[in-house]
Amino acid sequence: YRAKSTQSSIVVYDAEQDAHILDRARTIEELRTAITAGQLTCHYQPKVDTNDGTVCSVEALVRWKHPTRGLLLPEEFLVHAEQAGLMRPLTTIVLELALRQARRWRDAGSPIGVAVNLSITNLMDVALVTDIDRLLTTYDVPAASLTLEITENVLMTDSVRARHVVESLQDLGVGLSIDDYGTGCSSLAHLQDLAVNELKLDKVFVTRLPSERSIAIVRSTAALAHSLGALLVAEGVENAETLEALRQYGCDITQGYHHSPPLPAEELTLWMSRRETQFGSQLTSIG
Ligand code: C2E
Ligand code: MG
Ligand code: MG
Ligand code: MG
Repeated sequence: YRAKSTQSSIVVYDAEQDAHILDRARTIEELRTAITAGQLTCHYQPKVDTNDGTVCSVEALVRWKHPTRGLLLPEEFLVHAEQAGLMRPLTTIVLELALRQARRWRDAGSPIGVAVNLSITNLMDVALVTDIDRLLTTYDVPAASLTLEITENVLMTDSVRARHVVESLQDLGVGLSIDDYGTGCSSLAHLQDLAVNELKLDKVFVTRLPSERSIAIVRSTAALAHSLGALLVAEGVENAETLEALRQYGCDITQGYHHSPPLPAEELTLWMSRRETQFGSQLTSIG
């Protein structure tokens, strides 16, 4: 009996494994098509000044308008893109969409900055620097109006090449933000010799506010950021109580569903103009 049941469980496992591999292969094939057929798009989420409520900038977050599966979130396809070596074309598209949109907002009188997320694969690719330089020129957006968000784990790699790419990007004049701050393996080593513009505190700390321990984390991270000449940003702000705690304990910029979820560009433009009529002039320029 035992031998039989072991055997049957192996068969079931293999079938699942096969389905999984087929699924992945199909997703990768579809992703290649998506990249060339313009199925990738960006939603934009505002980063809001904690003290005066103005919109400082917006973060571009990639979405896949899949022909049959609907709108897919990054968690459903980014790993496949990484594995299939598609991060470079994907990132170029996101940068292009974000900078083109930044140009449109500037033309409409809202010179807000945009932020784009990068993965480790991107930072291993020296061509990224020339791509970004070219796109900034094409869309005539000041380098300081583009912020690149990278997670601290990416910075923890000892790769000389990644370090070189990061430094070359900084030489262009773009901003650097450490995303998901506080969740990586080590948080301080890289801050020693890399000038960053933002520490972006991960939402795991933000959602626990206003507990005593998360207040301690916000306060000390704000102090650290400010001592380094950087701003503290909090992601995942979902209610007014959290926002108030962040304001009280020194967080400069907040982002989250409390302000707005990530939205298509046109919807975010409407959101910003509604805010403007509600609160007076809310749009500010950074950089
Ligand atoms: P992230 O950069 O840390 O972005 C924050 C994520 O939290 C986004 O998920 C956003 O939609 C979500 N979020 C925003 N406000 C709230 C809130 O109040 N509560 C909660 N619970 N969540 C909130 P999304 O868009 O699914 O992106 C997930 C991750 O995928 C991003 O995390 C980023 O690491 C990655 N990603 C997204 N777009 C790109 C891209 O173009 N390139 C690369 N390399 N990575 C990307
Ligand atoms: Mg981010
Ligand atoms: Mg983040
Ligand atoms: Mg995160």
